[in-house]
Amino acid sequence: QTFGPTDLNEVVTRTVRLIHNELPAGLELKVEQEENLPRVEADAEQLKQVLINLVQNAMQALGGGPGGVITMKTVRPDRFNDFRHAGDSFVELHVSDTGPGIPPEQHQSIFVPFYTTKQKGTGLGLAISQRIVKNHGGTLSVRSKPGEGATFIIRLPAPPPEP
Ligand code: ADP
Ligand code: MG
Repeated sequence: QTFGPTDLNEVVTRTVRLIHNELPAGLELKVEQEENLPRVEADAEQLKQVLINLVQNAMQALGGGPGGVITMKTVRPDRFNDFRHAGDSFVELHVSDTGPGIPPEQHQSIFVPFYTTKQKGTGLGLAISQRIVKNHGGTLSVRSKPGEGATFIIRLPAPPPEP
C-alpha cells in the first residue's frame, strides 16, 4: 500500500484512459471534474480499482443497449458546507448510470461478499471496493430508486478548506 497526497481528478482521468476502449458502442461515458479539488491521502491504484469495479457494474447494468449513460464525477467539499456536515470536510467520487437501478431492500446486501444477481457474478466487486474505501477512512454508499439508475458515492476525508 502506498498512501500519499492524491489528486482525485487525476485518478478519474487515468481510470477513463483505461476503460474507454472497453466501452460498448451504445454507451456514453461522461466525466465531470471539479476544479481546485483538495488532495486526499490515498492509494491511487486502489481507488482506480474501485472506480473500475463501479464502472464495470454500471456497464453490466446498462447491458450495452443504446442510450445508456455512465457519469463519473468529482465533488469538492464546499458543496457540503451545510448543517449536515458542519465541521467535516469531504471529497466525493460519484459513479452513476442510467440503468434499472437497485431496489431499496438490496442496498445493504449488495455490499456483502458473494452477493450477486448475475449468472456469472462473483459478488466481490462491491465488498472489496467498500473495504478499500473504509481503509481510507471513507465510506462507499449507494443512492438509487428502481427505474432511475444508480449512483455510487465514494466519500473520502479531505483537509478542511483554507479559511
Ligand atoms: P457482481 O458484479 O459480481 O455481481 P458486485 O459486488 O460488483 O458483484 O455487485 C453486487 C450486486 O450489486 C450485483 O450483482 C447487482 O445486483 C448489484 N449492482 C451493483 N452495481 C449495480 C448497478 N450499477 N446497477 C444495478 N445493480 C447493481
Ligand atoms: Mg461487479
